[in-house]
Amino acid sequence: MLDRTLVILKPSAIQRGLIGEIIRRFERKGLLLAGLKMVWLNDEILSEHYAHLKEKPFFQRVKDSMRVCPVIVCCWKGKDAAQVVRTLTGITNSREALPGTIRGDFSMSMQENILHASDSPETAVVELQRFFNEDELFDYNMSLISNLYANNEI
Ligand code: ADP
Repeated sequence: MLDRTLVILKPSAIQRGLIGEIIRRFERKGLLLAGLKMVWLNDEILSEHYAHLKEKPFFQRVKDSMRVCPVIVCCWKGKDAAQVVRTLTGITNSREALPGTIRGDFSMSMQENILHASDSPETAVVELQRFFNEDELFDYNMSLISNLYANNEI
């Protein structure tokens, strides 16, 4: 059973020309791209997305930083996709994120940390609904699936 998870390439990724590099890393890992679009987010959707931060002093600043230019939202599919993507992403504070992770390799910032990744399969379901219509997410066969997983893993 393959799960889906949400990734947002933040303005820090777009501005720094990291779109291809980030997508390459998820592809190389063996995740399946199930949806992708560019969108200019507004304060309303960001307030919902970052509702867990609304008491924090940096709430508005974080939301504003997500609106300086369009972002790329994408859906990746794979076994334990949310966890796998979070591992590739690295921890929130990029200065402490491990080398080899995306944040660890490309960012010096807590806020400008290149990408958002859903923190659990349950969150991923809610977040994918927030950013995608169902007809923007695609189910298709991955011809190399038997090279990516053992029979008993999927
Ligand atoms: P994550 O994105 O790693 O899941 P959170 O959900 O805690 O982390 O925070 C959402 C985003 O808010 C972070 O990715 C980061 O851009 C920003 N953020 C979190 N904590 C801080 C902070 N202390 N100062 C500035 N920005 C922060």
